[in-house]
Amino acid sequence: MNAMELEARHSARNYEPLPVVLARGQGAYLWDTAGRRYIDMMSAYSAASHGHAHPRLLAALEAQARRLAVPSRAYYNDRLGPFLAELTRLTGLDAALPMNTGAEAVETAIKAARRWGYRVKGVPRDRAEIIVANGNFHGRTTTIISFSSEPDYREGFGPFTPGFRSVPFGDLAALQQAIKPETVAVLIEPIQGEAGIIVPPAGWLSGVRLLCDAHRLLMIVDEVQSGLGRTGAWFAFEHEHVRPDGVVLGKALGGGLLPVSAFVARREVMDVFTPGSHGSTFGGNPLAAAVGFEALAVIADEGLVERSRVLGDHMLARLRAIRSPVLREVRGRGLWAGAEINPRFATARRACEALLAKGVLSKETHQTVVRLAPPLVISPEDLDLAIDRFAEVILDLERKRAPLVAA
Ligand SMILES: *Cc1c(COP(=O)(O)O)cnc(C)c1O
Repeated sequence: MNAMELEARHSARNYEPLPVVLARGQGAYLWDTAGRRYIDMMSAYSAASHGHAHPRLLAALEAQARRLAVPSRAYYNDRLGPFLAELTRLTGLDAALPMNTGAEAVETAIKAARRWGYRVKGVPRDRAEIIVANGNFHGRTTTIISFSSEPDYREGFGPFTPGFRSVPFGDLAALQQAIKPETVAVLIEPIQGEAGIIVPPAGWLSGVRLLCDAHRLLMIVDEVQSGLGRTGAWFAFEHEHVRPDGVVLGKALGGGLLPVSAFVARREVMDVFTPGSHGSTFGGNPLAAAVGFEALAVIADEGLVERSRVLGDHMLARLRAIRSPVLREVRGRGLWAGAEINPRFATARRACEALLAKGVLSKETHQTVVRLAPPLVISPEDLDLAIDRFAEVILDLERKRAPLVAA
């Protein structure tokens, strides 16, 4: 039985992988079990922004694993403080609470916002409401899917957690109308990733800040995917020169090696947590903290934020220059693009399979969008090669499949 059959037989069917069995990674390259090399245009949903097997991150991982890995937070450890200090310095906030996965850090933000609402803002007990955006993706816990607008994420998983109100993404008027006395926070992605790399109108994020100030709401941005250089800034909120009250980080924070996440916030928000009120056995372990610290240092030392901005501008310009009825729209910022495929010609899945055959790994999101998000360390030559292959795929689809109905 081959690896695909073995995995299919023994796994839950909660993913539908492309038919390739990966065995090795280095930088922006991945190899399958037959030794065939691919350009990674996916970077594990931004978890591998540093590229695969980064030597500095491997060295940090190995050295710390030999020294001390998981003593629990029943004790202090010598790695956590420096890591949290760096997170607060980079975000301009005061305190950070380390977790493991993105969803856990989002849950932490929700707890913080609710308790802040009761203890600081004075909202009546159990009445707090958090405003979120339609099309959001914040993870897969039962509370988080409770405010998803995606039927696939919810169907059959109720009953759901109350206390959330959803408004159209990028719509300030709708957000303003949804604010009630019990509203404690607005929780948003600055750019919606899983929804298809949806970029909001300019001015929306700064408008959210103003509304939050006017109504005394916490502005919490989920930068699990958009943060740490992906959009050509350390954090996507910087594009509009706002400072949120809380930031959720994950994915690239683990340097492509470990799950490392954090909720970072103003002191007044973080101070709602008291001993025993929240925790995680693995959160803040010295192995994760050492890798997370090094992951941040590598982004700075290798100029990955600037690289994402410059290469990202190039990538978006080249993608937008592809003239074909198959390609409806290209959205994005930095090294993060969503290419909207015209469903009259093909599904995004079909385009990803064609890319795979040409040695480029991507993944569709929502039937129609091909995600192009390489590791930030990708060379300009490999990036151009991947874009060439993408353009070929688009033109192939245009040639092979006449539109089913008149375009
Ligand atoms: C991936 C993602 C999450 C969830 O992270 P996990 O590590 O998969 O739990 C949360 N928010 C955003 C914006 C994400 O892209």
